Amino acid sequence: MTVQRDEDPATAPTCWCCGKEHPEARLVRLGAHPEVGVCLDCARWLHRRARQREDEHRSGLGPRLRASIDAVRATVIRRGWHERGVLGALLRRIDRRLP
Ligand SMILES: [Zn+2]
Repeated sequence: MTVQRDEDPATAPTCWCCGKEHPEARLVRLGAHPEVGVCLDCARWLHRRARQREDEHRSGLGPRLRASIDAVRATVIRRGWHERGVLGALLRRIDRRLP
């Protein structure tokens, strides 16, 4: 699918979720609305939100494990540990590999 845009080539496209500028290679476009681009970090966040919604109607070890990981993630973010130098970089790197 080719997307026609009336953008200033000097400015990078903007994520429709977080509002930050990203290169086109770091955006995911919606199928029915290719004018909407979401950055990879926000796409990951949306995926997790969708999975949380699905888990609300499931039981078992998987949903409980993911809920525990989500609780730890929320604590890390609430305390700002993800923004602390080397520790933050390590936590963000680990988070990219978690469900
Ligand atoms: Zn974003």
